[in-house]
Formats: sequence, C-alpha cells, structure tokens
Amino acid sequence: MSDQVLGIIIPGMSLIFAAAALLVWLRDKRSHYLLGFVVAPIAIGVSLTLNHYVLGWGSVSMHAIAQLCSGGGTVALAWAACARVGKKAPLALWGAGLALMLAINALSLQQGNFTVNLYLLNAYCGIVMTMAAQLMAASGSKDVVDRAMIWAFGITALQFFLRPVAVMMMVENLTAASYRDSAGHAILIVTAALFTLMLAGVILAAVISDQIASLKSSSQIDALTGLRLRRPFEEGAMDMLERSSKEGRDVAMIVGDIDHFKQVNDLWGHQAGDNAIAAFGSLIGSIVRSEDICGRIGGEEFCIMVWNCNLDDASNMADRVRRAFAAMRHDGISENVSITASFGVACWREGEGYGKLFARADAALYEAKDAGRNCVKTEGARRGAGRRNADEAADTGQLSMRAVG
Ligand code: GH3
Ligand code: MG
Ligand code: MG
Repeated sequence: MSDQVLGIIIPGMSLIFAAAALLVWLRDKRSHYLLGFVVAPIAIGVSLTLNHYVLGWGSVSMHAIAQLCSGGGTVALAWAACARVGKKAPLALWGAGLALMLAINALSLQQGNFTVNLYLLNAYCGIVMTMAAQLMAASGSKDVVDRAMIWAFGITALQFFLRPVAVMMMVENLTAASYRDSAGHAILIVTAALFTLMLAGVILAAVISDQIASLKSSSQIDALTGLRLRRPFEEGAMDMLERSSKEGRDVAMIVGDIDHFKQVNDLWGHQAGDNAIAAFGSLIGSIVRSEDICGRIGGEEFCIMVWNCNLDDASNMADRVRRAFAAMRHDGISENVSITASFGVACWREGEGYGKLFARADAALYEAKDAGRNCVKTEGARRGAGRRNADEAADTGQLSMRAVG
C-alpha cells in the first residue's frame, strides 16, 4: 500500500494540484502567490518520486537533490500562503537555512550518518511551516478559510517535528536503506499522504474562496473609476444609515455631477470624456476617509456618504473636491480648459431612509446647476448663496466651459 501511495498516487496528486493552481493563475495573473502553489507540489512530488525510485540505492548528491526539492517546495508553499494574506515571507533567511541544512546533511551522509538527515530535514520543514503559520496569524484575519490555513500549516509543522522521533522509536541502527525498508517509513508515508491531502484541500478551498471574493468585488466596482457601482454603493449607504441611527452619529451626503459633460464628449471625444470621469472618480476616492463610502451612481454623477460629519464640514469637503477638480488638466482636452463639477449636500435626518436623503441632496445639486454650475449648494440654501466667489467664477477654465456651452 505504502509503495503504491508513494510511487503513483502522491506524484500524480502533486501534478493535478500544480495544474489546478496553474489554471487558476492563468485566469487571474494578478494573484502571483498562486505560482507558489504551482511550484510547491511539483518540487515535493519530485522529491517523493526520487525517494521512491532512486534513494534506496542512491548517492549523496541524489539525497541532496531530493532534500532541496522538499525543502524548496516547503518554502514555496509557505511563501505562497504568506503572500496570499499580504505578509512578506523571510525568503533570505529560509534560503540560508536551506543551504546550511543541505550542507550539514551531505557531510553527515558521507560519514554514513542518516539520523542527522532525518532530524534536520524535518526540523527545517517544521520551522518554515511554523513561521508561515505565525505570519498568517499576524494578519489578524477572522475569515474561516484563513483560520483553516493557519491550522493546516500548524498541524503539518507539528507532524514534521514528531515524525523523526517516531521513526527513531521504530527503527534501530538507522541507515538510508534500513529507513527506506522499515515499517516506520511505511506508516510515515501514509500519514504524510493524509497530511498532504488535508493541506491541499485547505489550500484549494482558500484559492477558490479568493477567486469568488475577487469575482464578487469586480462585479461591484466600476472599472473606469475604481469606485462602487450604484447598487453596491446604495447598499453600503443604507448600512451606514442603520449604523448611524444606532450610534447617534451625523451622516452627510454629497452628490457631484460634472458640468456640461455632453459637450465635453462632443468636443473632445468619448475617450477624453472617459479620462475626465476617471480623474473625477479617483479624486473623490483619494479625498474620502476610510469610514466614508463613495460610488459612481450615473455616467458622470458621483455620490459620497460622509460618516460622522455635519452639513458645514461636508460642504467644505465638497468644495475641496470642486476646487481640485477644476484645477486638473486631462489627456485629450485643451490645456486652457477647465472641466468643472457642481455639488449638492444634505444631512441625514433621524428616521429618514436613503431615498429621501438622496432626493434632498439631488435637489441641492439642481440648485447648484441653476446657480451657474461649478459650485456647492447645501440643502435649503437660498439661490445664489452657494460656495463660489465671484473672482473664481471668472477664471479662465470656467469661462472656457461657458464658451463651450
Ligand atoms: P450638466 O452640466 O447639466 O450636468 O450637463 P451635462 O451635459 O453634464 O448633463 P447630461 O446628464 O445631459 O449629460 C451627461 C452626459 O454624460 C451624457 C452621456 O453621453 C455622457 N456619459 C455618460 N456616461 C459616460 C461615460 O462613461 N463616458 C463618457 N465619455 N460619457 C458618458
Ligand atoms: Mg453633468
Ligand atoms: Mg448627469
């Protein structure tokens, strides 16, 4: 049984697992960590195959190659698991440790001592897996799959530490050949296969859950601006209102719309228009705080939910966005032309829903458009009392757009 496991099933499984990880990487090449899950099973599979077919009568250098593969495969596995949760693995340290372990093991094998090999290789793999589990735990994720990865790495590390002790208890006068033929070896191969299966299953679950999460987020994000699309924005906004009624915090809404945008498209083309929309979106994304929510709710219309913020502060925030946008220049649009935007601001009133709040902010936006555009209006503000002084209204860009309109 152990021979079949070692000779066919484990190398075959390794290849299947590597191919699966490769296919997922080909679909999603931004997830570089997947390459670690391609390299690791191949390296470990090569090591196990060498163990099975060659090492019984193999040389010191063959042992070194097999150990390089199992140590290197473990490092690839640990690196990938850390990179997946955004943690930097200490690759230089692991590389130096691997070189040292290989050198000591080659020297002791030359002197006919196999015990050192058994302890050192397993200890090395155990230490790397423990460090990876610690780094993953430090990421603080409470996600079930992330937790399962930490446990799977921790348990695998533990079996690496226990495995040489178990062999030493079962085999007397340990040599490479006697180890290969011992009952201890057979049991360890089967347990190794079970641990490999458990680890592969958990990693596969993690990769699939990452893919589902990335599909979900890409269906919620507007590709041009990187902000939320209308539906996910509204869902987030409703959650924020629910939270604010529980916690008694202010919430303000800002609606911003690019001025005369139809003419921007007509004059400079759709691509130039897209550049201006992308710039407006990324400006908004860079100005909001992490608790705020912003989204592209229409073609050139954006909305921000500002957490813990009153009408005045939200109006100041909208004015900062307005000034910064008017000062921007865009690819494909004349240098002396400033594209501007108008803003409406409203504050959430206890008990009201998203729709009512939006209607008031949108009404303020209409007032801003009516008042000549490139200004911020707050709900209930009188006509002409928007935030834009006369000097600014007369700046070149604004005049250019007027000329355009
Ligand atoms: P106002 O100042 O009153 O807002 O005038 P406007 O021309 O900006 O308003 P309107 O809503 O009439 O026109 C918006 C235009 O935005 C119409 C549509 O062709 C254009 N648009 C919508 N989505 C996109 C997009 O993704 N890219 C580009 N380039 N244009 C878009
Ligand atoms: Mg517009
Ligand atoms: Mg519009």
